[in-house]
Amino acid sequence: MVFSGPYHVEIEATLRCPLRCVHCSLKAGEKKTDLLRESYIELLENCSKLRVKIFDVIGGEPLIRPDIYELLESAVRKIPNVIVNTSGFFINKKVVKKLKKTGIKNIFVSIDGPSPEKHEIIRGSGKKLFQKTCNGIKLLIKEGFNVTVAFVVNKVTFKDVPQMIELCSLLGVKNLFILGFIPIGRGANQKNLIITENMLMETLKDLRKYSNNKKVNLQVDCSMDCAFYELEGDICPAGANFITITVNGDVFPCGFLRENPEFKLGNIKEKRFFDIWMNFKKKKLINFNQMLRNWYSQFSDTKFKNICLARILYNFRNKNSDSQIIRSFPP
Ligand code: SF4
Repeated sequence: MVFSGPYHVEIEATLRCPLRCVHCSLKAGEKKTDLLRESYIELLENCSKLRVKIFDVIGGEPLIRPDIYELLESAVRKIPNVIVNTSGFFINKKVVKKLKKTGIKNIFVSIDGPSPEKHEIIRGSGKKLFQKTCNGIKLLIKEGFNVTVAFVVNKVTFKDVPQMIELCSLLGVKNLFILGFIPIGRGANQKNLIITENMLMETLKDLRKYSNNKKVNLQVDCSMDCAFYELEGDICPAGANFITITVNGDVFPCGFLRENPEFKLGNIKEKRFFDIWMNFKKKKLINFNQMLRNWYSQFSDTKFKNICLARILYNFRNKNSDSQIIRSFPP
């Protein structure tokens, strides 16, 4: 029997991290929690059975786990596309060699701006992290990895797409993945980074303008993709194509919904992921979709109906935001 699972499963391997990025939605680095190894292995078996296509290992900083190479290698054997996300902090020749042995091909490395100053506003100043990250990327590319730079746009960097394209091109990076800042976790206090709809719209205009550039392939995350009706983008994939497993084993339709227990689908330490998913598909998906429809129906303006659910929740809770959404949301 062929089972059909979510297309893309994101796994928080650890909350440990050597950095304290101010926008981190997980508050990584504040706790030393790891996803249990047994939970990871069982999850992997379940994802394989469900024919998951993308197994996306995030942190914290996944490369801080001594067993990460073994964990990645077992994922590569079972899932067609395995991705590991890193700040690049631990990348050196030795780490690159170990990664190579796992068989993984796709590595996402975060860069938060086109200059050391902008990168370090987020990552922590005075540690020369920008140069370190760029050096790490060059080492990875030299060894043949498919590197994607992940760039979270915020109030300080929303005009920087062209410079980021140049930077990627200089580094030899083929893909630039752009995400919009969503202020949850440690990011909840970063009012100076909050990006308004108008700013995001400017970024999206740049994305259109540079979409056919010959240097770098531009991709946007779902929060940007579905955010603007003008793009005719997809609707929020939470729970449909996308699932996040948090570090303590909770299953959420999206990691940005972690602070909303009403969206929790189960916990892999209590029940197999396979069963949580099948149960969700069979019994709870209708309720979940109804809950989403209820959320969205509160918008008087249909143009916001498909906006990122996490962004809606944030705007709902932060009534001081100058967002247009907040004005259309009932108090
Ligand atoms: S809530 Fe936002 S970030 Fe999460 S899956 Fe939906 S669009 Fe993407």
